[in-house]
Amino acid sequence: MQTKRIKSFVTGFPRIGEKRELKKALEEFWDKKTEVSSLEAIASQLRKRHWNYQKEAGIDFISCNDFSYYDQMLDMCEILNAIPKRFAEISDPLERYFAMARGNESSPAMEMTKWMNTNYHYIVPELSAETVFKLNPKKIISEYMEAKSAGIKTKINIIGPLTFLGLAKTTDGSDNFKLLDKIIPLYKELISKVSELDDEVFVQFDEPLAVKDPSQEFLSLMKKTYQEISTACANVRIILVSYFDHASETLTALKDVPLYAIGLDFVYGKENLNCLSDLNGKKLIAGIIDGRNIWKSDYNKNYLLLKEIEKSVPKENIIVSTSCSLLHVPYTLEYEEKLDPRIKEWMSFAKEKLYEVSDTADIFENSDTDSSLLKLKTNGEILKSKIDYLKTTLNAESDKFKDERSFSFAERISAQKKILNLPVLPTTTIGSFPQTAEIRKLRSDFKAKRISQKDYDEGIKDYISSCVKFQEKAGLDVLVHGEPERNDMVEYFGEQMEGFVFTQNGWVQSYGSRCVKPPVIYGNVSRPKPMTVDIISYAQSCTRKIMKGMLTGPVTILNWSFVRNDIERSAVCHQIASAICREVSDLQSAGIKIIQVDEAAFKEGYPLRKEKVKLYENWAVESFKRAVSSAEKETQIHTHMCYSDFNSIIGTLEKMDADVITIETSRSGNKLLNVFAERGYKNEIGPGVYDIHSPRIPSREELVQQIKMLIKVIPAERLWINPDCGLKTRKWEEVKPSLKNMAEAVMEIRKTI
Ligand code: GLN
Ligand code: ZN
Repeated sequence: MQTKRIKSFVTGFPRIGEKRELKKALEEFWDKKTEVSSLEAIASQLRKRHWNYQKEAGIDFISCNDFSYYDQMLDMCEILNAIPKRFAEISDPLERYFAMARGNESSPAMEMTKWMNTNYHYIVPELSAETVFKLNPKKIISEYMEAKSAGIKTKINIIGPLTFLGLAKTTDGSDNFKLLDKIIPLYKELISKVSELDDEVFVQFDEPLAVKDPSQEFLSLMKKTYQEISTACANVRIILVSYFDHASETLTALKDVPLYAIGLDFVYGKENLNCLSDLNGKKLIAGIIDGRNIWKSDYNKNYLLLKEIEKSVPKENIIVSTSCSLLHVPYTLEYEEKLDPRIKEWMSFAKEKLYEVSDTADIFENSDTDSSLLKLKTNGEILKSKIDYLKTTLNAESDKFKDERSFSFAERISAQKKILNLPVLPTTTIGSFPQTAEIRKLRSDFKAKRISQKDYDEGIKDYISSCVKFQEKAGLDVLVHGEPERNDMVEYFGEQMEGFVFTQNGWVQSYGSRCVKPPVIYGNVSRPKPMTVDIISYAQSCTRKIMKGMLTGPVTILNWSFVRNDIERSAVCHQIASAICREVSDLQSAGIKIIQVDEAAFKEGYPLRKEKVKLYENWAVESFKRAVSSAEKETQIHTHMCYSDFNSIIGTLEKMDADVITIETSRSGNKLLNVFAERGYKNEIGPGVYDIHSPRIPSREELVQQIKMLIKVIPAERLWINPDCGLKTRKWEEVKPSLKNMAEAVMEIRKTI
């Protein structure tokens, strides 16, 4: 048989387990219900299973060290001995590792933040000029040997030095990249260690930071670093992978560096096509199977793209790959028993994508074989049926509304003030109240049909009316219903709109043992009937105070879902906006005077490259404005965003033009609030006055101080007083005294102004 020329490559595979085995094993171990040996046994089983899946699918480059008990950046801290001082005394390595990830009695956890522009969170390395780096390659070597003894030769995945440093924080204010000279020798030492593992060893350096508008300095450091690394050991092949956007500058900078291969993302970085000649003899890891979405790949398009690439890269140098690690998609469609079979046929999760990688490689190798022709035909038929179905059977909301509200903020706010009649420094909350065990049980009993609609409705109404009573008693001005009917702020709306489906087992790791199950937007979005009007009207009927209607905004719904890829994201967002717009209109007709449209995930959708930001901001703002365009000038529109740093998006916030925005500034004091004052932001603002992420109850005195501080930055006439986010993760014992103190603090201050 002729040997295959076109190889297949997978950047990384998910690790949590297709039934979330690792999640369960970790949580039992943390709860001290199991021994470390059982955690290790499950981890080992999972690794072997995942390697075998890849082997069975015919993947040539399979990773080791893509497994992690918590996070791969944290693993890298361990490998380089970058252990923050407060954990250094813990002698058991695993105990120390989990303490770094989750904190312990004496020390807070290391910080966590989003990995590039994904919803995965990594642990932020804490470095300083004093960090004593030391190589600890145990994990890498043992995983490599584990795979080898299972008959699988792997490539070794590690985070590259530039990305490791660039995404770290320094605790002494020193320049991150100054530490490069200290860690390059360790990477070289690592290479020399792993060179002993086999005759030929492959090491994959993940450098996603290369796609984030690299500076000249970054590029020259990149060149210097990889020059050294690439020549460290003759039998170690260095592969540098980038993903999530194009990395053309890096490709050019590394033109003369003798790397074995470079990985480029052709799904989210089409621009990569323009600079392929700079590969200069290196192999190309061509990322063409989408690692961030769940749709079946188009084999014909893949073939044409590879043909295009072949114009600049010799065929034998092309390796077919996923666009990034498959960490960002769920495991497999195998356990999806309830999905509409037609829609399921359009999808592909991690395990299915493995076959897409090897099929694409086979088709590229020889498109004329019977098996290639059959694959092209079957794939083409499915995708055609999808397009036909989406075209003919679903209609998006036709737009009977305007693009934006007709009156200026000044006109709106004066009309609203007359109707709302609120005191100065109005108090409110962000929407949710504690999600108690009873309320969760009520929802799950109803979902499983263990209780009737009537019992469920009564349970929800009881919760709402007790929330209302509490808020009235505490003396809050604008009330909320508490969101007891919502499991999740996106899922709740997705379930009531056309164009969405929900998986049973489509879990994706968010951080550590935590997973999320994003909704899937497969078709045109529309809203067949009102979604929140009954519940909000009921809540309003419980009180003479003003009840806020509570909706999730179009951009957040989009950013927290898997989105169809046959039309632009902006078009999908506009459809959702039109649906929300109808809901705003219906709430308004039902007499609701204030409507909050949450945009908690607005910032998440920002592209990594500056040149693409404007486009996103334009359609995201347009969508928000469209969503609230049905509001009359008397109806007050609030929005809420879970951020505190608005420095880079203040202009965008202005364009959104919500009457009131509530934000999350409590932990950063009023420093970050200054941007609103400096900019001359005119609309009303509710900067969170206390941190809901902690169980601490803020005292009345401290809240008085906090509010006084705020008044110095934002005039009292434009200031709202509220906690910094929803209260669903808190307990009633914390919420009740905190809100009471907040309301009392405001009453005290009102006497003085
Ligand atoms: N209204 C939502 C709540 O209060 C907002 C949640 C959020 O900002 N993430 O829970
Ligand atoms: Zn929030």
